[in-house]
Amino acid sequence: MSSSYISEALRQIIIARAQNRCEYCKCSADVTTEMFSVEHTYPRSLGGGNTLDNLAWSCLGCNSFKGARIKAIDPLTQQLAPIFNPRQHNWEEHFSWSADYCEIIGQTPTGRASVQALKLNRKGVMNLRRLLAQVGEHPP
Ligand SMILES: [Zn+2]
Repeated sequence: MSSSYISEALRQIIIARAQNRCEYCKCSADVTTEMFSVEHTYPRSLGGGNTLDNLAWSCLGCNSFKGARIKAIDPLTQQLAPIFNPRQHNWEEHFSWSADYCEIIGQTPTGRASVQALKLNRKGVMNLRRLLAQVGEHPP
């Protein structure tokens, strides 16, 4: 068993905990063409482990843009801030939805830094939110 191995049982727990939504951009794996994977909130390259308290369900876009970082620049203050960590932070404290629910708005240094670093308002995901909102499937 390699250090990156995550059992199917553990994976299913992570998916259920996340209600099959990306824990960053909140898009549902059921309605997107993006691949999803188990993401290490504290990167393996920095010593993060394969334990439930370090794992999150993430779409490929958010996971890729996050990379192996745990901090990013808050565009408002130009200071480094921790990237949103779904195991340590409460989404609603750091983000809100725009009035039309298409855009995620950072409410804190962590929220703003994460919106920018993970590109949480990518064109495709914003269009998906717009379509889902029209049929009552968004916001979650
Ligand atoms: Zn995402």
